[in-house]
Amino acid sequence: MTPFHRLAAGLCIAGLAAFTVACSQETETDVSQAPSAPDVEWRKHGLNDAEARFSDLSDINADNADQLGLAWYFDYPTNRGLEATPLIVDGVIYTTGSWSMVYAHDALTGELKWFYDPQAPREWAVKMCCDVVNRGVAYDNGHLFFGTIDGRLISLNAADGSVRWEVQTTDRSRPYSITGAPRVVKDKVVIGNGGSELGVRGYVSAYKVSNGEMAWRFYTVPGNPADGFENPALEQAADTWGGGEWWDVGGGGTVWDSMAYDPELNLLYVGVGNGAPWNRQIRSPEGGDNLYLSSILALNPDDGSYVWHYQTTPGEAWDYTATQHMILADLDIGGQSREVIMQAPKNGFFYVLDRATGELLSADAYATVTWATHIDLETGRPVEVEGARYEDDQPGALHLPGPIGGHNWHPMSHNPETGLVYIPAQDVPWVYKTDTEFRHREGYWNTGTDTRPASLPDDPAIKQQVLDTVTGSLIAWDPVAKAPRWRVDHAGPWNGGILSTAGNLVFQGNANGQVVAYSADTGETIWQFDAQTGVVAPPATYRINGEQYVAIVAGWGGALPLVGGEALTAGPIPNRSRLLVFKLNGDASLPPAVDRQLVFNPPEQTASAAQIESGKAVYLTYCVFCHGDGVVGGGVTPDLRALTPEKHANWDSVVLGGLHWQNGMVGFGGEISQQDADDIHAYVIERAHKAVSEQASVESAESTSADTGS
Ligand code: CA
Repeated sequence: MTPFHRLAAGLCIAGLAAFTVACSQETETDVSQAPSAPDVEWRKHGLNDAEARFSDLSDINADNADQLGLAWYFDYPTNRGLEATPLIVDGVIYTTGSWSMVYAHDALTGELKWFYDPQAPREWAVKMCCDVVNRGVAYDNGHLFFGTIDGRLISLNAADGSVRWEVQTTDRSRPYSITGAPRVVKDKVVIGNGGSELGVRGYVSAYKVSNGEMAWRFYTVPGNPADGFENPALEQAADTWGGGEWWDVGGGGTVWDSMAYDPELNLLYVGVGNGAPWNRQIRSPEGGDNLYLSSILALNPDDGSYVWHYQTTPGEAWDYTATQHMILADLDIGGQSREVIMQAPKNGFFYVLDRATGELLSADAYATVTWATHIDLETGRPVEVEGARYEDDQPGALHLPGPIGGHNWHPMSHNPETGLVYIPAQDVPWVYKTDTEFRHREGYWNTGTDTRPASLPDDPAIKQQVLDTVTGSLIAWDPVAKAPRWRVDHAGPWNGGILSTAGNLVFQGNANGQVVAYSADTGETIWQFDAQTGVVAPPATYRINGEQYVAIVAGWGGALPLVGGEALTAGPIPNRSRLLVFKLNGDASLPPAVDRQLVFNPPEQTASAAQIESGKAVYLTYCVFCHGDGVVGGGVTPDLRALTPEKHANWDSVVLGGLHWQNGMVGFGGEISQQDADDIHAYVIERAHKAVSEQASVESAESTSADTGS
């Protein structure tokens, strides 16, 4: 603990909350008769309203973190993605898992106190872009709040998991979903939703904590102007949409993850998503900025009225959401203390804005950016390169970042002691091309782009060229110097969210299944632990009975593991759902790791080359989003190349009939034909034979190298 923090903590205990930095971050509980340091909790999603994810705790620090060990773990009975931030309140860890399930554990022992399954309909998975994940609960005064994949907001009693109230926040006839964590702001709980890929109109809503009654709703994009506008801000926004019938597909702009709150300014900040469809030429053929897509919106949390906005990507056309994590901080810029909001949205630029007014202070590339040269600080707009918009029938334009983003939902952390923002960053390119035969497919993906050119080519040389541009890293970004101070390169993209602490530590899990502690000032690796599964969620930390703990949910999933195919250079490794809790000298251990074995045993190929090609096109329209580019599974859904003979025999019952709907694999019989199903099958069989021959060549290379002793 630094002298400043000791002072600040003292002031908190004395009830003099002048140092809001320390007081608001952790709630200190008086432990009677305990001689040890006070308990420290983690009561809010981003630890505090500023969402800084920086803990004052320093019992675990850069000098002793190499003695970290597992205190306890708990394995959940699921194998889909886990993305939650655990909350720790009154000695209990509350976390969420796949299918919107909620778990409450004793924070000291790991004992499961209760568990709540909202019975989310499994077939809803097909209406979700990015896995059946959930990013956590909100807590207020003995009550929990969380969203479900089918758009409900539920409040539970924290003591026993019993239901207080439940409301449907979305129109169930449209492909809305909820994966983000709600936030409690004063007497309201605020929740957004997702679904822009499939086609919805985005909004954020506030409900009364007491009874679930809706207090306000703010739509982020205008609806059909013929129906009038909900408020003046939307009437103004409508002027920035050019022609077209965007309301048919929805327009997009979902508020699917980030929020922050400044109690002094009384401003609620929400991050707004991409356009629906992605392709502006289809959505808004006469152009325009299409407000409030890809914007940071400042709202009055009391009535949901508009205060200001900053649009990171005007006329968004690349799935460049601004739903990424936002952090409030006070920075010394040009000799002046500025109240700022910081974001590293998907488009590759790190933004620093004045959070009272939305004035742009700086925007600099933190990842590789090819679609724009820079952000013009005078106009606040990106300067796009020629052809960035892939309009008409232009050949595909390869760009970085792609739809996965230079940074996705994985939370960052701002450490006021090092002055750094730690970003889980990545480079994953994409080829954008207009779908010249676009039609709105209700309930399915509607991006307005032709996904075929974005699929990795078979040519090994070209494929390698593309894969060489795929990276993942942990970047320690200096938001004042506007440059990285250090970076750690990971094996590939899609690594975990961040926690930093006053112990000069940064914690991050990664796609390779390691949970790692780095020194916050230099990036040196101090400790790592093999979680035996990919980790994407962010850690939290707490102190009970004088001991500090670090908690993290491990489990592989989300957008890239579903669609990534071979772009997932780090994986896949076996997928498990588990909660891990560490402390100094913890001596628990995980059961032995199990290898992920894929057995390829495809039936004989009887289809023509034309049929395989046609199957590939249908696969890339409907299947790739969950089963991976090139039919290479990412470890979350079944790798279709490894289907058993029985499953091949059941192909039509599954693909058209929906035999496995309870896993989220609904029947596509109402949308595609028997011929389409046959063609997809032919393509899958072709990829399985390719896997067999690749496996054979790897095995022969290995036996050759073993023979020669090299
Ligand atoms: Ca999106």
